[in-house]
Amino acid sequence: MTGENDTSPASETRAFEADVARLLHMMVHSVYSKKDVFLRELISNAADSCEKLRYRALTDSDLLGSDTDLKVTVEADKANGTLTIADNGVGMSRDELVENLGTIARSGTRAFLEATAASGENSGLIGQFGVGFYSAFMVAGEVTVASRAVGSDEAWTWRSDGTGSFTVEPAGTEAPARGTRVTLVLTDGAKEFAETATIERTIKHYSAHVPVPVFVKEAGDAADKEVVDGTALWVKPKSEISAEEYKEFYHFVSGNWDEPAFTIHYRAEGRQEYTVLLFMPEQQPFDLFDPDRRGRVRLYVRRVFITDDADVLPSWLRFVRGVIDSQDLPLNLSREMLQTNPLLASIRKAVTNRVLSDLEKSATNDAEAYQRFWEAFGAVLKEGIYEDPERRDALFKLTRFHTTTDPEGWRSLSDYVAAMKEKQTAIYYAIGDNASTLAEAPHLEGFRARGIEVLLLTDPVDSFWVQAAVGFEGKPLQSVTQGKADLDAIPLSDADETSADDAAKPGDVATLTALFKQALGDRVSEVRTSERLATSPACLVAPDMGPDRQFERLMARQRGGGAGRLPPVLELNPGHPLVRSLSERASRGGEAPRLEEAAFMLLASAEILDGEAPSDPAAFNRRLLGMMEQAFSVPGGEASEATAPDVADQG
Ligand code: ADP
Ligand code: MG
Repeated sequence: MTGENDTSPASETRAFEADVARLLHMMVHSVYSKKDVFLRELISNAADSCEKLRYRALTDSDLLGSDTDLKVTVEADKANGTLTIADNGVGMSRDELVENLGTIARSGTRAFLEATAASGENSGLIGQFGVGFYSAFMVAGEVTVASRAVGSDEAWTWRSDGTGSFTVEPAGTEAPARGTRVTLVLTDGAKEFAETATIERTIKHYSAHVPVPVFVKEAGDAADKEVVDGTALWVKPKSEISAEEYKEFYHFVSGNWDEPAFTIHYRAEGRQEYTVLLFMPEQQPFDLFDPDRRGRVRLYVRRVFITDDADVLPSWLRFVRGVIDSQDLPLNLSREMLQTNPLLASIRKAVTNRVLSDLEKSATNDAEAYQRFWEAFGAVLKEGIYEDPERRDALFKLTRFHTTTDPEGWRSLSDYVAAMKEKQTAIYYAIGDNASTLAEAPHLEGFRARGIEVLLLTDPVDSFWVQAAVGFEGKPLQSVTQGKADLDAIPLSDADETSADDAAKPGDVATLTALFKQALGDRVSEVRTSERLATSPACLVAPDMGPDRQFERLMARQRGGGAGRLPPVLELNPGHPLVRSLSERASRGGEAPRLEEAAFMLLASAEILDGEAPSDPAAFNRRLLGMMEQAFSVPGGEASEATAPDVADQG
């Protein structure tokens, strides 16, 4: 590749990275009707580059030279059918042009591609994602980017028609003195964007609160017109800002297109002064769980943009978008020093608390909106329960759960505690992949029979926070599949519905459990009776001291194997007719081999209900067929021939 210092800078044509080529293809063939969003994207980029330069000039004032008014200029050329977006910001070197405009850096764009690949649909998605620079190809048949990096004496031009490749070459007269000029040759369907009236309207609609002034002019005219004054929206008093203005600003800071679900805007005064304008998105962004997720809260110091990746808020609030503008932080603070700055740490603490208390308020004032918010971001907030022990109680107040009482709806922990049964000591939970299959798990039967509510936890993060959480309002959390369920103290809610009352005498079951344990050996750590079950004969639970079984499974999956798992406890329902007759036979004696078969079958059926394969599928199959053979044998007939295993083996 030609280096920056090459004495004879040459023109070079390069292929786009595969993802970019796909994205461009979509843009060029887009049927998306709101093509005007391209202008917002290009103005955002131009404004970003001005803000970056303003920041760098803090420590190096020479960078600005005599051109101190940072601004964006949009120039329409009706005669030639072109539109130019120019800025006097940081600009790009040759390498930066190639890197930034030939590859995909931002995680949001990659998530967009993944989402369109998954849904096969892109026109709606274009609106949901800001797809950045490449959206220019929705309206342009050719895009030229002429740029001069600040302080550089060379300027370069990047050009592409949006098909497979782009060209970079030394810039000619189109080169700006500093910054970037993006020129679009508009397609026939998009000529309206060569008219200043359309452009003004579009800018006012999408970019009215970009914190850098934006001017519009007609090509050839000396006069330009200020369309956006570049004053910061967040410094205006709340009463003077309309919902529409908040929304448009939210779009600018988030790159999203949904409505903000909640807006938090206030000014802190006292030991520190700062302004906060934060938004909770309405929709879950596609890259919420992407570790590279970019574009967090934007930090300003006295209206100068400093950075948007200073982790101003904890990672479990990574969906929050907006601005924090400090009066007190030093302007010349390096990004690295920001991470350890005590002033910023105290802003972080105070703003985090404020976000939590505002969320709590909206949970009370607008339960429906809060529920929608929780559905989108609850899984992320729950990370805070183990990452931030200090805020555990505040977070618990915000959590909502599907429970056996209301599997479709959302219940708070306070709702749960208020509905606890007399003598119920713990908050019970079940962990699984989805609420409806969880609700069917045999482990829940005994709880249901007693009218005890169980939290149904289905987010991957649930396995983690329940380990860390000590409890809520003095009530410990306990898994329904972990340890003994001490349910005997709590009466059944409808005694005649179940047969637990006339359970086999404990002595009888003891013979059976002992026999089962002997038969199953190390496959189980214990066999015992249980109050947990009402209608199923058996289930598996974790040993008293062992981790929850779902958590163990999750960890085993991450390790890529089940080795090291503790053998489970097999629990039997002493009230179940099958268990009763088995234990009668056990007490009578003389049937050990058949009872051993039954032990294996009950273990396998409990494994299957847990979503696992029986530990020995071949043996399981043999026993199952054997039992069916017996069950279906015709008295005096030749049933054994009909199921001769050799026949099947030949298949
Ligand atoms: P994003 O703005 O989210 O990073 P874009 O696709 O809009 O994604 O832009 C890609 C990159 O190109 C930007 O991050 C920036 O580095 C660079 N870029 C685009 N436009 C400009 C500009 N006018 N001035 C300087 N750099 C720019
Ligand atoms: Mg952009």
